[in-house]
Amino acid sequence: MSVKVRSVSKHYGKQKAVDSISFDAAPGRILGFLGPNGAGKSTTMKMLSSYLMPDSGSASICGYDTQGQSLEVKRLIGYLPENTPLYLDMYVKEFLSFVANSYQLSQTAKKINDVIEQVGLQSEQHKKIGMLSKGYKQRVGLAQAIIHDPKVLILDEPTSGLDPNQLLDIRSLIKSLGTDKTVILSTHIMQEVEAICDDVIIINKGKIVADTSIESLIAQH
Ligand code: ADP
Ligand code: ADP
Repeated sequence: MSVKVRSVSKHYGKQKAVDSISFDAAPGRILGFLGPNGAGKSTTMKMLSSYLMPDSGSASICGYDTQGQSLEVKRLIGYLPENTPLYLDMYVKEFLSFVANSYQLSQTAKKINDVIEQVGLQSEQHKKIGMLSKGYKQRVGLAQAIIHDPKVLILDEPTSGLDPNQLLDIRSLIKSLGTDKTVILSTHIMQEVEAICDDVIIINKGKIVADTSIESLIAQH
């Protein structure tokens, strides 16, 4: 198991957002984190990505505690936040080069070209991010999340706000990127889980109410 979460809780003031959740995620599988608005999905994704500290419990990625916030653990994780803070005035390549440098990667020019090809951004690579459609902006978001070849990919509502065609494209892209990684993606759409996930966790009001494979979930219905 490359991701282990044990009794993790998070409050915002008196608001309990995540209530003692535990789960594992395995390499080569896509785990859907399914729940309604306000269930605690984003809070969990932020804690896994080491952007937010749990109040209690522990989360580890490939044996590294996410609370350590070391460069080692950051290198293991690729994170696509729900509202990606993209730099709209930057050119696609300029932005990816900025991200590559922040990870202190070598051979950045080659890695940038490879990742542009991987996410299908060739036709847009010389444009400013602000000029791109939502679907292409999301490809830039995915490119920044995978440029350092992380072991674990955390995607917070990666298809929200996309039109039906873009949505299908981004789903199949995620499926193709996930083959050698542990992918955890949050969504409030059951069909998304059925379409691309191998396992599913259902979260409601901060608590896990189901943790199962997609096959057995479908078999129960
Ligand atoms: P989801 O991603 O499933 O919509 P969130 O993790 O964003 O859920 O939110 C879980 C709960 O925590 C919600 O009730 C939300 O309003 C609350 N919450 C999230 N972020 C904050 C914050 N920064 N301050 C206060 N409450 C928050
Ligand atoms: P998300 O589901 O990614 O948290 P939201 O649109 O719910 O996105 O929230 C946007 C921002 O506002 C986030 O930084 C979140 O932490 C914060 N936030 C969400 N709910 C609350 C809340 N009830 N009180 C204060 N801040 C909140």
